[in-house]
Amino acid sequence: MSEYIPYGRHHIDEDDIAEVIRVLNSDWLTTGPKVEEFEEALADFCNMPHAVAVNSGTAALHLVMACLDIGPGDEVIVPAMTFVATANAVVYLGATPVFADVQEDTLLVDPASIEKLITPKTKAIVAVDYAGQPCDYDVLSSMAQRYGVTLISDACHSLGGAYKGRPVGSLADITVFSFHPVKPITTGEGGAIVFKDKEMAQRARRLRNHGIDLDFKERASRISWEYDMVELGFNYRISDIQCALGLTQLKKLPKWIEKRNEIANAYRKFLAKVNGLCPLSKSSCVKHSYHLFVIKITEGKKRKILYERMRKNGIGVNVHYKPVYLNTFYKKELGFASGLCPVSEMAYDKIISLPLYPSMTVLEVKRVVDTIMIVIE
Ligand SMILES: *Cc1c(COP(=O)(O)O)cnc(C)c1O
Repeated sequence: MSEYIPYGRHHIDEDDIAEVIRVLNSDWLTTGPKVEEFEEALADFCNMPHAVAVNSGTAALHLVMACLDIGPGDEVIVPAMTFVATANAVVYLGATPVFADVQEDTLLVDPASIEKLITPKTKAIVAVDYAGQPCDYDVLSSMAQRYGVTLISDACHSLGGAYKGRPVGSLADITVFSFHPVKPITTGEGGAIVFKDKEMAQRARRLRNHGIDLDFKERASRISWEYDMVELGFNYRISDIQCALGLTQLKKLPKWIEKRNEIANAYRKFLAKVNGLCPLSKSSCVKHSYHLFVIKITEGKKRKILYERMRKNGIGVNVHYKPVYLNTFYKKELGFASGLCPVSEMAYDKIISLPLYPSMTVLEVKRVVDTIMIVIE
């Protein structure tokens, strides 16, 4: 049998390994200079003033909600079509996630659906750049401004993408990234928040470290044992080992995004000849980072058969995502029921994510499409 093709995979080169080893031989394994260096590089990359690196994308989302003082009685609008972490961050703070539906052709959050859900209790809107395609941030920003709510971008899929020539990270007040191995760049586990606002970035740094107001430079230079915990924070620190990897990965990201676009174009070309399916649409004013290549099976119940046959043939397809509120926790504990976001629910019955990662070859793309053709036709 031919080799297994995963749906996504990380890419590690010798320079990544060398930089990690350098940190292992240094004095700082965590909370040291590599963390700041990575934060600066990421902020520069996003054309933003402040970045705070943490140990997962989920931690980043949680810290954002905490920085905005979101709590019981508050509502945060999130798309139904996202990874559970986006909505869970709202639940961590005792606030209420309110699910907006998505647009049928892109599965990006539908601004019209959001607008209907805004109430005086709404504190924030989370836009998710599903599959790596930036949302329509001009529309979302002006809506957020009009209603006086904060716009948060969950850009866990879309680092390296752009909207009307502006980089992802600079498109909302606050942007969140994940560096899990399937995401655009990896630190093993990791995440980051990019801020416009300096005070909020400082607060995120403090909350990352238990709510204590001292960083590594201060600790190293002080002779006093004293520190003060001024609010209840967490240990969401990321290590220098991870940040060293993040730094070398980030340098290669633009090249990887080009590769991902080439692979997506190859998929579009080959799939145009196959009946009964269609890839999601891409807007002409974005640079897509193609974290995922998602197709919709337009006819009947073929998705399940396709999924099983692809897997049997060593092709790692996946389904992203089940609408968040259809998970047992959301139904049983929070009282959600099916029917809430019909476009998301209909899409969930049809979508399948095809393999896509920078080192994938055109031959592998062909093998994926040939296998689909045999099943579908
Ligand atoms: C991966 C992901 C997260 C969570 O990131 P982790 O680093 O795995 O905690 C949040 N939101 C979206 C949309 C994601 O894809």
